[in-house]
Amino acid sequence: MVCGATPATQVTLRSVVAMAVFGVTSTFRGVYCRDCGLAMFRKRMSATLLTGWWGILHFFINLGVVFGNLGERARLMRLGPPVRNPGAGFLNPGRPVFLRAGFIVSAAVLLIGGSFLLISATTPPVPFPAEDQTYIGECAQHSGTEWTTVDCLGPHDGKVVSLSHDRGGCPSQDRAAKLPDGNYTCIDTSQ
Ligand SMILES: [Zn+2]
Repeated sequence: MVCGATPATQVTLRSVVAMAVFGVTSTFRGVYCRDCGLAMFRKRMSATLLTGWWGILHFFINLGVVFGNLGERARLMRLGPPVRNPGAGFLNPGRPVFLRAGFIVSAAVLLIGGSFLLISATTPPVPFPAEDQTYIGECAQHSGTEWTTVDCLGPHDGKVVSLSHDRGGCPSQDRAAKLPDGNYTCIDTSQ
């Protein structure tokens, strides 16, 4: 109860502060009229939109908090206009959420995240040069850390089964050998 106006209702607003793997969710409960409740909503919502996205787990917790706060706002907006004693102090709702930093930051996060997903979904994988392709099917023998291609009819330690742009890109059971151009051959040592 801030200003003593009626009608008023109990609202629960939350905000998240997320940092990588850590995060804190704060809960704010109070009985507010429409004006004071809207002021609290704008404050907590702007805070969580600014600080809630920066964790792995808390990104999703924040998503729930954002929708929870919107639900509380909807309940507040169904209240009639507040009737209060003249002179009673009440909270100033101030600027709407979409004019505050948290909203702008969230819009940027969605825009950058969305375009990144779109680009990675529509960009074809970088092809391997033809000279790398010729390694596939070749047999290889290693001495120390060096791999050399050898005749499959002779003794060999493995067979090149695929190519990768990075060392970690080969299937886990295969050995990766670096090519002069920086790509890797994936060598199946059971063949
Ligand atoms: Zn009030």
